[in-house]
Amino acid sequence: MMNDAINLIRELEDMGRNPKISILKTMKETGKKAVGCFPIYTPEELVYAAGMLPVGMWGGQTSGTLSDRYLQGFCCSIMKANTEQALLGQYDFLSAVIVTAYCDTLKCVIENWKIASPQLNVVPIVYPQNRKTPSGKMYMKDEFLRIKKELERIAGNVIAEQDLLESVDLYDEYRCIMQEFTDTVQDYPDLLKAKTRHLIIKAAYFMDKKIYNEKVSKLILELRKLPPENSRKRKRIILSGFISEPDGLLDIMTDNDMYVVADDLAHESRQFRTIAAKTGSPLDRMIERIALQDGCAFLFDEKKSRGRMLTAMKEKYRADGIIFCQLKFCDPEEFDYPIIKKDLEAAGVASLYIEIEQQMDSLEQLRTRIQSFGEVLA
Ligand code: SF4
Repeated sequence: MMNDAINLIRELEDMGRNPKISILKTMKETGKKAVGCFPIYTPEELVYAAGMLPVGMWGGQTSGTLSDRYLQGFCCSIMKANTEQALLGQYDFLSAVIVTAYCDTLKCVIENWKIASPQLNVVPIVYPQNRKTPSGKMYMKDEFLRIKKELERIAGNVIAEQDLLESVDLYDEYRCIMQEFTDTVQDYPDLLKAKTRHLIIKAAYFMDKKIYNEKVSKLILELRKLPPENSRKRKRIILSGFISEPDGLLDIMTDNDMYVVADDLAHESRQFRTIAAKTGSPLDRMIERIALQDGCAFLFDEKKSRGRMLTAMKEKYRADGIIFCQLKFCDPEEFDYPIIKKDLEAAGVASLYIEIEQQMDSLEQLRTRIQSFGEVLA
């Protein structure tokens, strides 16, 4: 029983740890073309319905200065890493790349990549700010239909309505499974330490969703056969922000007796915390899901609910504190933080703000700050 769970954990961790190897392996196994999907909320369902493999493009551990030709020093490390890898030809196996346009950096990437890496077939997508209004939804439908047409051209076949319906259902299944998985993690702080949890969630970006769903469902079943682990000495933490990388950051939390009981990371739970509507056409269901998604820096929220949402999560998961992982130069997240901080302070929620880059030479300052936060929570 224990061995079955450990084997599945190791397998999924490996898939999350080695993006390119994992993608090439999945392409070989499924015979599918791959399409890169930039952060965040790229309509992966359309890619899957076209018979292709949507793969996440959330930076990576690169060094080098080729990206300096196109991006200023104050652009975020994720886009620098993506651009560096594109210029090195690391993405040339992709049939297309769908790029969102939430911030100035992404808007520059869309235009620059068309010149710098024309072989990558850049497909831009723009989400409406007022995504809950009828006109916003109408606009979103036009965007999805445009992307659908582009993908049909790249795939060389028309996306059938039934295929799109099955794809939307599959993604909903993925989201339900992942909600269950993240809720299960809190009972196994030793088996599923912060980094392991992160790598398992990350693996979804490089696997066929059907296979990934099967593996994670099996893992949940195997975990449920094991007794919950004793977590009394450890501090229960919620992570917020864009991403919790580099991985060493999560090791520091484990070293300081912390474990992640929930998250509000763009890279993790924001991908699956909202399920598509149950009624309507597949496209309408996808649109409704984006309209329902709240508490996200990239989707306009006139009520500024994220601080209150985090406070409610703190109660629900009996968390000791919240760590806000601010990706340096990610302005949408930076604009949200002062309001979140005010709300958390008003509610008496202990929180720590740390500034990270995806590639960092030294994590020692962060180690000191996380250790101090752990002592405050003790
Ligand atoms: S600044 Fe933030 S939103 Fe913009 S590309 Fe970087 S991580 Fe994404």
